[in-house]
Amino acid sequence: MRGKLVVGNWKMNGGLAANKTLLAEIKSGWAAQAGRKIAVCAPYPYLAQVSAALEATAIAWGAQDVSEHDSGAFTGEVSARMLAEFGCRYAIVGHSERRQHYGDTDAVVAAKAVATLAAGLAPIACVGETLAERDAGATMAVVSRQLEAVLGAVGDNAVKIVLAYEPVWAIGTGRTASPEEAQAVHAMVRARLARSGAADVPVLYGGSVKPDNAKALFAMADIDGGLIGGASLKAAEFLAIARA
Ligand code: PEP
Repeated sequence: MRGKLVVGNWKMNGGLAANKTLLAEIKSGWAAQAGRKIAVCAPYPYLAQVSAALEATAIAWGAQDVSEHDSGAFTGEVSARMLAEFGCRYAIVGHSERRQHYGDTDAVVAAKAVATLAAGLAPIACVGETLAERDAGATMAVVSRQLEAVLGAVGDNAVKIVLAYEPVWAIGTGRTASPEEAQAVHAMVRARLARSGAADVPVLYGGSVKPDNAKALFAMADIDGGLIGGASLKAAEFLAIARA
């Protein structure tokens, strides 16, 4: 059976004191439930703090990016093997902010997904179209292309990944895809995953998810939860979304 998953992406936000409060509030507000998981993805310097705070809880944590390499002369990079040493469960790969600002191509994203799996972590592979691509009627083609790159690279390990459909025009803009718009893409993604024997992979929706729109989005047949940016920085909002 497909489980539900809600993941917070703190982006480049936080501080030791603020994180401490946020993590304590998430911990005290979340009761473990069968088939429902939550996780937080924090900036690298805070992962040790997050790991310690969430030890022995049902809340997982992850990184927001990862190197496609295992080790070596890659100054500034962090490998999945290093993250695994701390008990990291997830690494986001192909977030649109990485694709847009740091040149992560489909091939790089695919290599990062492979490296993440090789270290025993689950990549949260992000796909999604820009507004110009949507307006040009290219949504399905763009998402398919991004998805094929990842699925082609991970092969039989497709069952171990998490997918996140994040329309770029909905990220941090306050503009959300309607549940029907999101579902149409999720259904296509699900059908493609099924062809790789990975129909049960969680397919998350991301893009301005808030407590007041989460329920309608998560009620759709192929939406298994969310990747939450801005709202994951407020415990009450993140928990309300997770409970939806
Ligand atoms: C994200 O960062 O993945 C995201 C979906 O951000 P927001 O919820 O702020 O749109």
